[in-house]
Amino acid sequence: VTMGRKFWVGGNWKMNGDKKGIEEISKFLTAGPLDPNVDVVVGVPSIYLEYAKGILPSNVAPAAQNCYKVPKGAFTGEISPAMLNDVGVKWVILGHSERRHVFGENDDLVSDKVVHALESGLNVVACIGEKLDEREGGKTEEVVFHQTKAIADKIKDWSKVVIAYEPVWAIGTGKTATPDQAQEVHKKLREWLSKNVSEQVAQDTRIVYGGSVTGGNCKDLAKEADIDGFLVGGASLKPEFVQIVNAKN
Ligand code: PGA
Repeated sequence: VTMGRKFWVGGNWKMNGDKKGIEEISKFLTAGPLDPNVDVVVGVPSIYLEYAKGILPSNVAPAAQNCYKVPKGAFTGEISPAMLNDVGVKWVILGHSERRHVFGENDDLVSDKVVHALESGLNVVACIGEKLDEREGGKTEEVVFHQTKAIADKIKDWSKVVIAYEPVWAIGTGKTATPDQAQEVHKKLREWLSKNVSEQVAQDTRIVYGGSVTGGNCKDLAKEADIDGFLVGGASLKPEFVQIVNAKN
């Protein structure tokens, strides 16, 4: 991490929890203490966003886990950035691997969503990452560059974008990428941004790692120069999330 990039740690609760569970998570986040030099965000199931916003400490921002690409209309089951703004939610996670691979979202849809969320003033966590067969086939760079390009082709302002590099084979599997493996891809992504967007965007954009991050492995990952934080699934439901927020200490 260079001086310019504030460390960023997001939780992704996925489709977990209930009001009681959110209360418990709020308690350990309130007790913290959370390093004030870290941006902390938690991805909340949409039905609980307003509830979570009401009880989370003010230094933890709730994020939606998805939203659609237009403000309103006949899109049963969807929520829009306008609705997130209406309830005071400032962040959204887009293109998560489960959205891509369980719900079939492609680069075109994901990038349209990113564009519309940014135009609506939201901060976006844009997720990318290769599958196991792609890594084993030597296609990691090709895949993550392609996913990044789909977004880069459609946006100009990167100031509200956090890139989450999450190798699909590491998500929810307990198989964390090694610090070297993660650093290598983060560095390549930053080089890609430098070449294809601008040196400034490459230096300023936070690239966070996701995939089986725990209290135990976060410190070694956080030491890598191009790892600017984490997106955390399973461990974000537990008190060890506080340790992950404080990985730089
Ligand atoms: P995990 O999930 O930490 O449970 O592997 C990460 C994610 O999906 O963002």
